[in-house]
Amino acid sequence: MAALINGKEVSAKVRESVRLETEEFKKRTGVTPGLAVILVGDDPASKIYVGNKKKACLEEGFNSFEHILPESTTETELLELIKKLNADPAVHGILCQLPLPKHINERAVIEAISPEKDVDAFHPQNVGRIMTGNYKFLPCTPAGIMELIHSTGISVSGKRCTVVGRSNIVGKPMAMLLLHENGTVNICHSKTADLKAECLRADILVAAVGKAKLITEDMVKEGAVVIDVGMNRNEQGKLCGDVDFENVSKKASFITPVPGGVGPMTIAMLMRNTLTAAKTAAGEIS
Ligand code: NDP
Repeated sequence: MAALINGKEVSAKVRESVRLETEEFKKRTGVTPGLAVILVGDDPASKIYVGNKKKACLEEGFNSFEHILPESTTETELLELIKKLNADPAVHGILCQLPLPKHINERAVIEAISPEKDVDAFHPQNVGRIMTGNYKFLPCTPAGIMELIHSTGISVSGKRCTVVGRSNIVGKPMAMLLLHENGTVNICHSKTADLKAECLRADILVAAVGKAKLITEDMVKEGAVVIDVGMNRNEQGKLCGDVDFENVSKKASFITPVPGGVGPMTIAMLMRNTLTAAKTAAGEIS
């Protein structure tokens, strides 16, 4: 039976270390880290995420600047706001909650955020830095997953790693981080010919697809570490991942639950990135 990787516990440790470092940083520099979160429209899930981010900022001792804009906001208006936030010294991190309404070009918005304040690490300059391994910010979800893997005590080096999903936000950067730690990495997607065979090879399996129970027991190697990024609703409307948790946990050595696995890590890493941005702006990190 697999041991649970407890995202709540691991994220609480990260959050506590950020809180203590922030206290010291404020004493040293007189600067309070500030995160600006922009929400356009009234998508209910996005509203919850934005609320959670504000709460986390306050718990860490950060300033939180919320910009809730109506659905009718134009791309020009949004870009104007980002320009102001880029120039505001009290704002160290800027996050624009995705998805944006259809009339706004997501790429233009991502590219408008100053790379120094891009705490989501979605700007092409930061994406490029992830490729070369010379990065300041890592995208929050993959960075959080690396913390979860480290918490097992298992080294990635030399392990066969399979990442299912190749999005810019999760799958691709996830693969790169595993590669940086010397994993032998395989990326799967919707056109992968034999997903089962690819998954069965994995010592470390990361599922980031968005399909409930896509990963079943027969696709998992005995003793594998299984990380479930998926956030889906099952037939009863309950939150569930991409992995058939009940059966896969009989075979895996470690497994993340949903909820309580990857989810809490994403916000913890956002807090860490915001503190890094503030330290960089204060000249403490070059
Ligand atoms: P995307 O929809 O952007 O990407 C999904 C990926 O899964 C694509 O690469 C797609 O392939 C691949 N895929 C789809 N069907 C299959 C299949 N049958 N077999 C193999 N691969 C398949 O999703 P995201 O990366 O943004 O998110 C993935 C999941 O993670 C979602 O459930 C999301 O809610 C969750 N998530 C959770 C977070 C957290 O904090 N816990 C944060 C971010 C995401 P192709 O490229 O060929 O289309």
